[in-house]
Amino acid sequence: MRAFVTGAAGFIGSHLVEELLSRGYEVIGLDDLSTGRMRNLANVADHPSFRMVSGSILDRQLVEELTEGAELVFHLAAAVGAFVIRDKALESLRTNIHGTHNVVDAAYRQGARLLVASTSEIYGKNSKVGLREDDDRVLGSPLKSRWSYAEAKAVDESLVDAYAREFGLRAVIVRLFNTVGPRQTGRYGMVIPRFVRQALDGEPLTVYGTGEQIRCFCHVLDVVPALIGLLYCDAAAGKAVNLGSGQQVTINQLAHKVIEATGSSSRIERSSYLEAYGPGYEDMQRRVPDCTLARELVGFQPARSLDEIIADVIDDQMAARRSVVSLT
Ligand code: UDP
Repeated sequence: MRAFVTGAAGFIGSHLVEELLSRGYEVIGLDDLSTGRMRNLANVADHPSFRMVSGSILDRQLVEELTEGAELVFHLAAAVGAFVIRDKALESLRTNIHGTHNVVDAAYRQGARLLVASTSEIYGKNSKVGLREDDDRVLGSPLKSRWSYAEAKAVDESLVDAYAREFGLRAVIVRLFNTVGPRQTGRYGMVIPRFVRQALDGEPLTVYGTGEQIRCFCHVLDVVPALIGLLYCDAAAGKAVNLGSGQQVTINQLAHKVIEATGSSSRIERSSYLEAYGPGYEDMQRRVPDCTLARELVGFQPARSLDEIIADVIDDQMAARRSVVSLT
């Protein structure tokens, strides 16, 4: 069986590639290395069943070529991270809309099963505890930078839905809620790797807004098997499915947990959203998934706690530091 993975050198993509190879798949990976890193694939770089291609999902011909012969397509490539969306708005829209269209169309022509990674950003400011897949989207103006990512991902979902309904494409959409773990970088905004790096460097942990906003963080190793399971699940075809944890934490609590787990002497420094992200940024105060559908479809049940997630991110960043030191 051959799987084509877009965004293969990214944080989630690289874990997925490893899992697919360990299950005996032949894997072709594509990544433009904008936020992905080849070192994420260090464990599998020489694997005989793995081929990695550096290129963009905006290159329609390349996407078609690489999809040829694939039974499974996992579309994870996207412009992600609050800072990327803010600083490269147009490029992000193009990648997330046109790039996804290329992948969806190629999967359809190939007759492959497709999984498209979407996001909890879809729900916007809907702060209901236990967001279900058919809940309303509550969004600010599309002229506010925060919402352009959600807009693009919503277009992606509608595209997948139209291909599924009109052409019979076998596709599932997954809405990922704050997936974290080893290899995620904080450079583009994600809070846990940022806090861990700051704590390890003895810098202040930068809490934005009141810090009372709530998130649920899910370990990437809980998410990856569910991605594979959902792609094979006939009952999931044509659906959007939430994947996330139900363990709620405020960003203030998170900062304290990271300080404690690292034994850091860092303090906490608050700043406004305006200072952190510039004008036009809004945050959602609470984002909690209801993952009943994923549980019913593939038995999804995250096993790793927030404390384990933090410990794994600390270990990952410590190991990366050790390897830099040993190289110098
Ligand atoms: N956040 C923060 N400090 C940081 C980075 C992020 O307080 O250095 C906040 C951010 O404003 C948001 C939460 O942490 O309220 C989660 O941010 P992230 O970008 O990881 O994910 P998302 O906003 O997509 O949930």
